[in-house]
Amino acid sequence: MHQSIAHGIAKVYPESHHGICIYHLERNLKRRKVKSEVIKLFQSAARVYKHKEFDLYMSDLAKVDKKTFDYLIEEPPERWARSCSSRRRYDMLTTNIVESMNYVLLEARELPILRMMDFIQVKLQRWFYERRNEAEGTFYDVSWWVEEELKKKIDLAFTLNVFPIDSWRSRVEEEGITFLVDLNKRTCDCFQFQFDELLCIHAIAVIEKRNIKKSNFCSDRYLKESWLKTYERQIHPVGHTDSWIVPESVKSQIIKPPDFKVPPGRRQKKRLLSRFPEVQDI
Ligand SMILES: [Zn+2]
Repeated sequence: MHQSIAHGIAKVYPESHHGICIYHLERNLKRRKVKSEVIKLFQSAARVYKHKEFDLYMSDLAKVDKKTFDYLIEEPPERWARSCSSRRRYDMLTTNIVESMNYVLLEARELPILRMMDFIQVKLQRWFYERRNEAEGTFYDVSWWVEEELKKKIDLAFTLNVFPIDSWRSRVEEEGITFLVDLNKRTCDCFQFQFDELLCIHAIAVIEKRNIKKSNFCSDRYLKESWLKTYERQIHPVGHTDSWIVPESVKSQIIKPPDFKVPPGRRQKKRLLSRFPEVQDI
């Protein structure tokens, strides 16, 4: 992103966080022929939850490949490392919606404008319908994805020793290391509980012992209710032009084609990627 755009967005949306997609950052490293050992260190540094661990991985990385280390820290770590970020970073690639839509509309872009609008309407109508059905079909209080994530942790959670302190706090032991879980604050010493806003194995161990509902301690975003709300609206067809009721104020407007000359050569269909494809979390 051009620096002036970044400044502009920060001014208009002061609450926004400027993040970088680590998947693309990793792709850049591969393009620079960085050794796989270094890429693994980068992946760990970007994904760990504790700042201390981030420092350890980065100092290892600097020892093995100083050039890549310099390249990485050119971008402030709060933009790409989970432990340094002031916001939540999820392991979900929901970031580049522009590219995804661009890909979906690749063929439709050859169509006349109204046909293209029809194509978009049909596509969205189908997506909304299918996703609403999927959300309605789940038996859980949380989305499928969350249920699967929690299931993956449950076996390990059952092997942990839990020592309750009071009605909210418990001490959990995992391989000789103690973690303090606070259900009221939704925190754990492993940091996963507060960063992901999803139960970590220690919190699951506590909840299973107390026999309470896991969904009560996940972020509202993960609930079935929120999933349904996202797709609750329907996308309706616009119908044939004969059936449109167009107000006089619109009819009377004269719309001229844009004052623009098509440059020679093939039209660019793919969005050009910047060096650091970014996420603007507003
Ligand atoms: Zn934990």
